[in-house]
Amino acid sequence: ALQKPILLADLEALLGRCLLTAAPIDPESLVAALSRREIHVYYQPKATRIAPNRWIIEGVEALARWQHPTLDMISPAQFIPLAEKHGLIRTLTEQVLETALSQCRAWDAAGLSLSVAINLSPQLLNDRSFPDQVARMTDQAGADPRRIIFEVTESAAMSDPDTTMDVLTRMRVKNFGLSIDDFGTGYSSLKQLYLMPFSELKIDTSFVRDVFSHEDARTMVETMVLLAHKLRLTACAEGVESQEVLDFLDAVGCDRAQGYFIGRPMTGNALAACTREWNALYGS
Ligand code: C2E
Ligand code: CA
Ligand code: CA
Ligand code: CA
Repeated sequence: ALQKPILLADLEALLGRCLLTAAPIDPESLVAALSRREIHVYYQPKATRIAPNRWIIEGVEALARWQHPTLDMISPAQFIPLAEKHGLIRTLTEQVLETALSQCRAWDAAGLSLSVAINLSPQLLNDRSFPDQVARMTDQAGADPRRIIFEVTESAAMSDPDTTMDVLTRMRVKNFGLSIDDFGTGYSSLKQLYLMPFSELKIDTSFVRDVFSHEDARTMVETMVLLAHKLRLTACAEGVESQEVLDFLDAVGCDRAQGYFIGRPMTGNALAACTREWNALYGS
């Protein structure tokens, strides 16, 4: 029998993310995209363990998507570095935050109270005016800062540790949550973890993915959960793709879980439906 060819779009839907496009993207088109508001926001659910074997969705991570009018959807893996390089990351982040805050109001109106995680480029932690700006935006949207978590990946861009520390402290004082993203990879160090005022530790996908193929990965995940708790942080595992992995996380007392098994990144409306369905199924 003839098999339907697999289209790029199918693959993309299957993977739940955007494939890298071969089209050249340049800073000028990103500037245009920002002014035309072509940067959309998708939301991926984060489940919280409220009791053994009971996980409910009460938060999301906001993920940027560039919906180009003629090209396919462009992955953040492509345009975030471009935005960072060309001084556009602050504008982009403010747009993502603004969109997420207004989505929160829409969810509130629909009877859903969700916390939102926003990704912060390490560059922004060199900008001492940033905390006041986000506090102003949050206040104007009538949102409680406790509902907003900023996820930061450590990087060499944290060139000035004093400024970084100052910016993070200002955010914490304003009651925003702070999450150390992709923990255990790249530049993330144990030293930063206890020095900086984080409230959540995100265990990187690379460990979570391997829990059933490598015994050592299980040890790593379990130990990172323990470490987070000892430091009074919440532990969140990313890349949870199966019930088995969720059960393992449950057994080691991980507080939050995120991944395709719980839900893919999706539009605000789809997220509301997904949350109701999941919480009815797993929350009781
Ligand atoms: P991240 O912060 O580590 O976000 C998680 C990425 O993993 C997302 O990719 C998400 O779609 C993907 N993912 C989630 N669950 C699973 C799973 O179960 N399996 C697998 N294989 N992957 C999963 P995405 O949306 O392509 O974003 C890539 C990166 O781009 C993000 O990594 C983040 O570092 C960056 N990014 C996205 N939006 C923003 C933004 O608004 N600002 C900044 N500064 N960075 C952003
Ligand atoms: Ca993140
Ligand atoms: Ca991550
Ligand atoms: Ca990442």
